Amino acid sequence: MARVYNFSAGPAVLPEEVLQQAANEMLDYEGCGMSVMEMSHRSPEFTKIITEAEQDLRDLLDIPDNYKVLFLQGGDSLIFASLFQNLATNGKADYIVTGSWSKKALKEGQILGDVKVVASGEDDNFSRIPDLSDLDIRDDASFVYMCENETIHGNRIHELPNTKGHVLVADQSSMFLSEPVDVSKYGLIHAGAQKNVGPSGVQIVIVREDLIPDDLPGVPTMLRLKTQADAGSLYNTPPCYGIYVCGLVFKWIKELGGLEAMKERNEAKAKLLYDFLDQSELFKGTVVPEDRSIMNVPFVTGDAELDKKFIAEATEAGFANIKGHRSVGGMRASIYNAMPIEGVQALVDFMSEFEANNK
Ligand SMILES: *Cc1c(COP(=O)(O)O)cnc(C)c1O
Repeated sequence: MARVYNFSAGPAVLPEEVLQQAANEMLDYEGCGMSVMEMSHRSPEFTKIITEAEQDLRDLLDIPDNYKVLFLQGGDSLIFASLFQNLATNGKADYIVTGSWSKKALKEGQILGDVKVVASGEDDNFSRIPDLSDLDIRDDASFVYMCENETIHGNRIHELPNTKGHVLVADQSSMFLSEPVDVSKYGLIHAGAQKNVGPSGVQIVIVREDLIPDDLPGVPTMLRLKTQADAGSLYNTPPCYGIYVCGLVFKWIKELGGLEAMKERNEAKAKLLYDFLDQSELFKGTVVPEDRSIMNVPFVTGDAELDKKFIAEATEAGFANIKGHRSVGGMRASIYNAMPIEGVQALVDFMSEFEANNK
């Protein structure tokens, strides 16, 4: 078995223990003689899987009782629209734009209603987070939207914006379960599983109950949060296998000591890589130190040809998916929960060697 170090931004590396357990249970899940892929979503076995997954997630994030946990489909790209339909009860919402994903969320708001950009990092190429302490939020804005960790640009909102009493909505896809979060500060958190907690196809939504509207005229059944909130995410067939793998990942995180332990691991990995970048004469990080993500680390040499050479040699050496997003170029190392520190150390050693050879 030759596993590479996979720095993909998503779908991304999963814990080997989880993949191994899923493999062991592939043909016969706990003695029921079938795979999780083959069982009814209303069977006692799957009921136990989804109930435990939700409970483990609640334990990990210490989710208050007045929040619903939903396992949906359609990805962040669909929830960008449906969260607006559900939460912007007067058709108005304000957006913080810190990179490509918040821009995409904004775009859906623009299609559906009246949106205002209250802060943007675009003029700085999203290399820093704008000041979020005194935003000009409209009094009647239904919520303030942000992407807490911008996967493509590698920046991170370290200090939550002052929303002046407005509901805060956050895309946490690429930082979900990487560290503890105070859920009570948010109205809604959404996260695609494929970054840090599972396979693609599962969209996790944590939403304060009182924000879920009872009636939404003109909005299709599946786009109403109430539909899946009332049905325990089982209104229709959910992404069963994906939810099962997420559940295994939640147990894996619990066993390692929960989100405090994850945070410690992740900070150690990020420090290793950023410390190297900060002293390197060849490689440079693209985000100012105070706004850096600890999950997605973009970097460049400043020379597109040399970037290309590095990516080719790194791929050859077993560092997979180190190429930056097609929209920004350069390199990016996504170092999610399941990336072991040995993988980051090996990458740093390789970069150091490349630097010596390309002086
Ligand atoms: C990957 C990602 C998305 C896109 O998710 P899809 O499931 O492909 O729609 C949205 N937001 C962030 C922060 C992401 O990292």
